[in-house]
Amino acid sequence: MNQATLSTPFRASGVGLHGGQPAEVTVSPAGPGHGIRFVRADRPGSADVPAHMDRVTSSRLATTISSGSESVATVEHLLSALVAHRIDNARISVSGPEVPVLDGSAKRWVELLTDRQEQDARARTIRVLRPVEVKSGVRSMRLLPSDGLEIDATIDFEHARIGVQKLAFRVDPDDYDRDIAWARTFGFLDEVEALRANGFARGGGLENAVVFAPDGTTLNELRAPDEPVRHKVLDILGDVALLGCRLQGHIQAIRPGHGMTLALLRALRADPAAFERV
Ligand SMILES: [Zn+2]
Repeated sequence: MNQATLSTPFRASGVGLHGGQPAEVTVSPAGPGHGIRFVRADRPGSADVPAHMDRVTSSRLATTISSGSESVATVEHLLSALVAHRIDNARISVSGPEVPVLDGSAKRWVELLTDRQEQDARARTIRVLRPVEVKSGVRSMRLLPSDGLEIDATIDFEHARIGVQKLAFRVDPDDYDRDIAWARTFGFLDEVEALRANGFARGGGLENAVVFAPDGTTLNELRAPDEPVRHKVLDILGDVALLGCRLQGHIQAIRPGHGMTLALLRALRADPAAFERV
């Protein structure tokens, strides 16, 4: 398998989910070995911010990556679309501190991501050889050997419209577009006030998130009954980009979150006998 990039740049604009500021994003082709890197277009001469686990400065609610004083927040939905479509190299220019949330899913990104171009260099992959596991209270994530990239997720929320949801997904570009890309981020009405007081969800609204009410209903229509667990798979895949190369392995996640996925990637890297680079 060879590395791949885009054939032509694409653009989207909107507000950030947490900061609420408007920004335009331009995703452009990049050469072999470049990887996926962000740059702040509103700060001329600023350093690139590579999409890499060593650059993560926050994984509370969303993933923020930084390089010195430059940072880009909520990178995971765009990265998810790029990983699902096996894009290894891209330059992502953002005219503000946060990637626009658009409709809260990766739907718009996969609509824009139509032209993939293979490059004259072999793809770099981390292949899992033996299990790695991380736990934190009721949350756990495991990484097992596989002949591809698979994500199984289980969530359990005490809400009548969610409850226990499970999904097993084998990553493939077409299946991702059909089954995962459109799943939106979600939140709970009784937590929104507290989030906003702490500087989160300021750009959040019914146009970019599913909101669950305390009375067991939703404030907007779900796109599928199991949309929440599909969004968790979307998020996990976005954080997998932070390995800095492709992953061959099987992720099993119980009550996942950005912090857990990052902990799993770090645990993998800390155990050199658990993987090989191919
Ligand atoms: Zn998300």
